[in-house]
Amino acid sequence: MCTSASTRPGTRLSRVTADDDAPVLPRIRPEIAALPVYRQGRQAGADAFKLSSNENPFDPLPGVLEAVRGASALNRYPDATAALLRERLAARFGVTPDEVHVGAGSVSLIAQLLLATAGAGDEVVYAWRSFEAYPSLVKVTGATAIEVPLTDDARHDLPAMVAAVTERTRAILVCSPNNPTGPIVTHDEFAAFLDAVPADVLVILDEAYAEFVTDPDAVDGLRVLGLLGRPNVVALRTFSKAYGLAALRIGYAIGHPRVLDAARATMIPLSVTAQAQTAAIASLDHEAALLERVREIAERRDRLAAALREAGWRVPVAQGNFVWLPAGESTVEFAAAFEGEGLIVRPFPGDGIRISVGEEESVEKVLGIAASVVRTLPEGHAGRGLA
Ligand SMILES: *Cc1c(COP(=O)(O)O)cnc(C)c1O
Repeated sequence: MCTSASTRPGTRLSRVTADDDAPVLPRIRPEIAALPVYRQGRQAGADAFKLSSNENPFDPLPGVLEAVRGASALNRYPDATAALLRERLAARFGVTPDEVHVGAGSVSLIAQLLLATAGAGDEVVYAWRSFEAYPSLVKVTGATAIEVPLTDDARHDLPAMVAAVTERTRAILVCSPNNPTGPIVTHDEFAAFLDAVPADVLVILDEAYAEFVTDPDAVDGLRVLGLLGRPNVVALRTFSKAYGLAALRIGYAIGHPRVLDAARATMIPLSVTAQAQTAAIASLDHEAALLERVREIAERRDRLAAALREAGWRVPVAQGNFVWLPAGESTVEFAAAFEGEGLIVRPFPGDGIRISVGEEESVEKVLGIAASVVRTLPEGHAGRGLA
C-alpha cells in the first residue's frame, strides 16, 4: 500500500519541520555522518612550494600531453576494462591481463577491495599512523577498523598486526613505504607475515611509492606474487606519484583474477577515463625518462633526510618521495612556520609533519626552517635525534 505523506498529518515528515526553518535532510548513516569532512592539502599560492600531497614536481613524461590530446573523443565512453592498459601492464610484469585491474586512482582500488571483502561485523586491520584515507574507507564498508600502532622507529609492527587478526578479520592493509612516516616493510618480514595470516584473509599491499624505493630488502608486490604465489595478496600501484599523473586518477591492482573480479563488481562503472588510460600507456613508453626523474627525487630525498638528521631531527627511514618530522605537540605551530615562508606542508596535529620532496629550490628553504624550529624542542623530545 502506498500512502502519501500529505494525507497522513502527524507523520515524521511534518514533525521534523515543525520547530524551525531548518530544511529536512535525508537521514545519514550515523557512522558516515561522524566521519571527518575531507580537507585537501592547501593549494599553494603562485610563489609557494606545495609540499603537502606527495605530488611529482616534474611535468608529465615526454609525449604524454600529446597522447591525451589525441585520445578518443569526449563524447564517447571509455573502454570499461582498460583492456589496452591491462595488456601493457601484464606484459611488463609477466602476468596475464586478468591478473591486472585498473581503477580511478589506487584509492578507488582500496575502496573496491574493502567493499568486496568487509561489511558490518567484520574487521579490517592496518597500521597507524598510515595513509589518512584508510579509516574512512573502512568506515564506509560498515566494518570496524583495527589500528595497530607503528613501532618506535615508525615502521609497521607486523607481528602485532598478526596478533590483531581474529575470526572477524577480512582484510589487512600494509603500506610500504608507509605514508606518512617513510619506512618500508622488508620482503622477509612480509613473507613471514603472510605465513602467519590465514589464507582466506585479503592482504592489500599498498605500494603507491614503490618506484622511489632504493632499499634492496624492501618488499616488492610483484616479486611476492611471483615467488610466493599467494591468491590472498593484491599489490596496488599508481600513476599518481612517480609518473606524475595525479590529476588524471589512475592506478592498478595485480592479484588473483577471482579477487580482482570481486573488486570489479563493486566499482563505479566507466570511472577510469580514456584520457587517463592513454596517458598511462604513453607514460609506460618512457621508462628511461621515468627512472631518471625517480632517481633524481630519491637522491634529493636522501640529501634532505640526511641534512634534517644533521640539524637534529629524528627522521625515520625515508623511502617514498617525502620525509617525516615527528614534531608531536609542536606540529601545528611548526607547520605554520613553514607556511609563513611559502612552504605548504602536511601537518598531522599532535603527531608530525610530512614534507614532500619537491622542486630542488624548495630543499634549502625546508632545511632552513626545519633547523631553526628543531632547536625549540625540549631535550628528550621524540622528534630530536641522538646527535
Ligand atoms: C597517494 C597514495 C595512494 C593513491 O593515490 P591515487 O592517486 O588514488 O592513486 C594510495 N596509497 C597511498 C599510501 C598513497 O600515499
